[in-house]
Amino acid sequence: MTMASFGVIVAAAAVASLVFLVARAWLEMRGTRLVTCPDNRQPVAVELDMRYALATAAGGRPELRLRECTRWPERKGCGQMCLSEIEAAPHDCLVREVLGRWYDGKSCAFCGRGIGALSWHDHKPALKAADDRIWEWGELPPEQLPAVLAGSRAVCWNCMVAEGFRREHADLVIERPRVRRLHRHA
Ligand code: SF4
Ligand SMILES: [Zn+2]
Repeated sequence: MTMASFGVIVAAAAVASLVFLVARAWLEMRGTRLVTCPDNRQPVAVELDMRYALATAAGGRPELRLRECTRWPERKGCGQMCLSEIEAAPHDCLVREVLGRWYDGKSCAFCGRGIGALSWHDHKPALKAADDRIWEWGELPPEQLPAVLAGSRAVCWNCMVAEGFRREHADLVIERPRVRRLHRHA
């Protein structure tokens, strides 16, 4: 092997390692997170600064700072003390993890079927809040999720669609009484 080809292999390995570190950082850092603000002890939704995290990921451990907080701009100069919560458990505070834990083992409030594994792209389950309103996740501000989930029941996608139609078009929906079938016995 010539020195030139050895140099190419070393350079390719270095690039592959860099790509791996950046890709891993992207997968770990993306997503909206829920933290408890140390200032008011309330749930707050935050997002990490992905550019900064990826730029510092080459060193092996991305540095964290925030790009968004639902208490900004009023509290923009806060010092971002909530970062310690993210550093301690970066996955646990992801909104998708919070929702996954909440739906785990739950059954639909209408049909009783188990919600099962969550789909994040389509046929997502919904929730029935304490006031009987049915919400899709995306309709709720993330920082309100902990309070809403505490008093809600799970609703499967089929029932969410059916209930939505029934409530919006009550004049078109005919509730058929259940028919008891008689079985003839020989
Ligand atoms: S960024 Fe500041 S205001 Fe927002 S949750 Fe963190 S500490 Fe609180
Ligand atoms: Zn259902």
